[in-house]
Amino acid sequence: MLVEYKNEALVNFALPENRAAMEQALANVAAQKGSHFPLVIGGKKIDTEARITSVNPSNFEEVIGTTARANTELAETAVQSALSAFADWQYVSPEERARYLFKAAAIMRRKKFEFSAWLVEESGKNWVEADADTAEAIDFLEYYAHQMLHYAAGMPVVPNAGEQNECFYIPLGVGLIIPPWNFPLAILAGMTAAAIVTGNTVIMKPASTTPVIAAKLMELWEEVSLPPGVVNFLPGSGSAIGDYLVSHPKIRFINFTGSKEVGLRINKLAAEVVPGQKWIKRVVAEMGGKDAIIVDSEADIEDAANGIVASAFGFQGQKCSACSRAIIVADVYEEIVAKVAAKTKALKMGPASDPNSNVGPVIDKNAYGKILEYIEIGKNEGRIVAGGVKGAENGYFIEPTVVADVDSKARVAQEEIFGPVVALIKAEDYDQAIAIANDTEYGLTGAVYSKNRAKLEKARREFHVGNLYLNRKCTGALVGVHPFGGFNMSGTDSKAGGADYLLLFMQAKSVAEKL
Ligand code: NDP
Repeated sequence: MLVEYKNEALVNFALPENRAAMEQALANVAAQKGSHFPLVIGGKKIDTEARITSVNPSNFEEVIGTTARANTELAETAVQSALSAFADWQYVSPEERARYLFKAAAIMRRKKFEFSAWLVEESGKNWVEADADTAEAIDFLEYYAHQMLHYAAGMPVVPNAGEQNECFYIPLGVGLIIPPWNFPLAILAGMTAAAIVTGNTVIMKPASTTPVIAAKLMELWEEVSLPPGVVNFLPGSGSAIGDYLVSHPKIRFINFTGSKEVGLRINKLAAEVVPGQKWIKRVVAEMGGKDAIIVDSEADIEDAANGIVASAFGFQGQKCSACSRAIIVADVYEEIVAKVAAKTKALKMGPASDPNSNVGPVIDKNAYGKILEYIEIGKNEGRIVAGGVKGAENGYFIEPTVVADVDSKARVAQEEIFGPVVALIKAEDYDQAIAIANDTEYGLTGAVYSKNRAKLEKARREFHVGNLYLNRKCTGALVGVHPFGGFNMSGTDSKAGGADYLLLFMQAKSVAEKL
């Protein structure tokens, strides 16, 4: 019998056995550092002279591993391989397809510490954040498998005398999976799993800063003996092969998560019909955010300050859901500024592999440079009350930074920085706080701290974000519990980890037979 879906429990690293398991996993990963991973197309390993080198953001002299780097010819081979695999895979029963995901989830659960250790080393997540990423990946595999079994029953239809009618779901075709680097396991596993469990075949093009964890996911797809060509592993630079793949006439859909700029480009290119193309491409694009936490005068101030610090600096603020604006009603503004500054200064920065590190490095040189530039802008647009400086220079360390007294129209209050920087904005009253929160082109997550029922209800109605949290932090969405996706320039609101997500990768076929 099928076990009911429930979220994967997080590891308690206070327990000595769990600490020991994680240390062992890190040692195992250390022994494998520098390994090379080829492309996998149609089940065959293909290597290239050109390589992508993945470095440890906590110590950039250390190479985590290398992968092959695809060019457009190999991208073409991958499309053809996915096309030919689709011929059979589309007719594999939903139950059988779901079983591949259940099996993958079970193996990932057994190798949980190993996956988390790769995340620590390659993406700079601390232990707790890495474990949450792995747990979310397991959740996506389990949840989408369960959802597919539900959709296998088809769409209910009304009986019509003299006919036998049904409406069932069929896949779309070959899909392109383009993830960001910031949840390099969970988002990649989720986007891929949803597409294949619904009967599509895919090209999995990982983010170039985190290709090794993606190669580990590819090994898992191989371990569950997914038929060759159902998932094709194609590391390569987005700027070199992205346009080619997005514009390809045989690509049926693109499942993208990443920046607004790249998402909009994909949306535009995909809309252009090219010779040999027989469909309107579907684009699922989940993009950036400029997420706000509102603190009302009638809030639990301690709770609110904790929520801001956790949401702003968890994984160094590199979450699409991260709090990058705190909008605080005037009566409690100074109190919150003081508390947020003190709590931020208490965070310990260090290598992600050190279990005592609260804050690790940012992902790479580009991000490091861009975030430091924003900190300089922040110095002119407000008052730095914590951080504002670099950390150890053997990795991409930046002190978690709080900029107070920022105008709501300032650049640091409007542009996605995607790093450990939060802008504190004073609002005259609660109504103005809501107006400021909505005054951005994004609409991904948001939170409100208030004890006043009427104010919470107003936020429910008027705070225009895809994921609203009341009296809790604005990060940490759980699969199945908090379907995730944003409004406006935050994307297509696909609601990943939600009950209707799989419909994005299927089409419904209605069949009527006269009796
Ligand atoms: P990018 O947009 O820079 O990259 C995302 C992916 O797109 C990468 O795999 C990249 O490949 C690829 N890519 C780049 N150029 C092209 C192109 N021309 N055609 C096709 N693909 C291309 O985003 P980041 O990886 O930096 O991720 C951070 C962003 O993701 C933030 O804006 C964040 O808010 C957002 N995000 C949104 C989430 C959501 O659910 N809304 C969740 C997580 C992150 P390569 O690495 O090779 O350049």
